[in-house]
Amino acid sequence: MDFDALFNEQLDSLKNDGNYRYFAELERKAGKFPRAASHAEDGVRDVTVWCSNDYLGMGQHPKVIDAMIEGVQRTGTGAGGTRNISGTNHDHLLLERELADLHGKESALIFTSGYVSNWASLSTLGSRLENCVILSDAGNHASMIEGIRHSRAHKVLWKHNDVEDLEMKLRAIPAHYPKIVAFESVYSMDGDIAPIEAILDVVEKYGAMTYIDEVHAVGMYGKRGGGVSEELGLADRITLIEGTLGKAFGCVGGYITGSAALCDFIRSFASGFIFTTALPPAVAVAARTSIAHLKESEMERAGQRRQVARLRKMLDAQGIPHMDNNSHIVPVMIGDPVKTKMLADHLMDEWGIYVQPINYPTVPKGTERLRFTPSPLHTDADIDHLINALTSLWKQCAIAHAVA
Ligand SMILES: *Cc1c(COP(=O)(O)O)cnc(C)c1O
Repeated sequence: MDFDALFNEQLDSLKNDGNYRYFAELERKAGKFPRAASHAEDGVRDVTVWCSNDYLGMGQHPKVIDAMIEGVQRTGTGAGGTRNISGTNHDHLLLERELADLHGKESALIFTSGYVSNWASLSTLGSRLENCVILSDAGNHASMIEGIRHSRAHKVLWKHNDVEDLEMKLRAIPAHYPKIVAFESVYSMDGDIAPIEAILDVVEKYGAMTYIDEVHAVGMYGKRGGGVSEELGLADRITLIEGTLGKAFGCVGGYITGSAALCDFIRSFASGFIFTTALPPAVAVAARTSIAHLKESEMERAGQRRQVARLRKMLDAQGIPHMDNNSHIVPVMIGDPVKTKMLADHLMDEWGIYVQPINYPTVPKGTERLRFTPSPLHTDADIDHLINALTSLWKQCAIAHAVA
């Protein structure tokens, strides 16, 4: 059988739809963020990265770099095993304590990624709690969706951020069934924020547990970077808070926090936690340093808020439509995969601006977009340059301007 022909058939259909993914080959440069080298067929050049999830530039913070180097020199490169078989290092536990403290919970558990933490936790909860029903926000991330699917628990979708719909669906489930309401705080593609307090009010009426993904909020929201749940003073009403070490904290790995019993339950039963090599201890050292820094330092968050507001204001001044939201994510809607890629190519080739076109299945078809994430390290001149580029392209491409 010609397997490559089978593969190519599906790849060709992606290409025809404009949904084929081309990766930008970047070379990050410590100390230069958001500048990076871009390797392309016609050579290497410097670009400004406008779509990084290293939201605060912590991946290049001198303290975090030094911590990882110190960690490697002290403990070596790898953990040496799964958590159960020789892989649990002192630095893992220090990180877990730091995370539990960050969210004001009894306990925390780290995973090799945020994806794995969602997948493993939801699949374990859903499969081991008898008659469990998982109520999942329709906008949830693929890692949650896959975890729920794998659990084979009964799944009920509720309309995105719609508390009335959630309540209607909670009411329909027998009172004695364990119910888990799973949602995110900041949704990564629209940048909208869940009505967490209203969700908790409803959930508590029906005795459900709450599972919140704060991946796009930890480090950036709340006085200590504990996420939107900290900012709103709601963390103690949430059963499980999940996050990543790979975005604003600038490292890699994921985690959950919650009661000691909850974390012990996941630790004891989750295949995705048990049967995989633990994170390198040096990564745990770096992540803990980054978290501890952002607990104390407001400078990065303030700088990010300033540059986000500045970019929005300047887009408005030019009549370039962007989605309104209360987060740090600035989506500029294009609504067509081919046009989105064309704009991104122009920005890269002619202006040295790298923003990845966001297409299906990351976002629904017809809502393709450019998603900008200003950081405290983007200068005013970087923003001016981006605005000049977009203004010029908008004229060239005759894309409808927003109604003033
Ligand atoms: C990126 C992301 C994850 C996965 O986190 P990683 O650490 O990158 O694996 C989980 N949830 C959401 C909403 C995300 O955007």
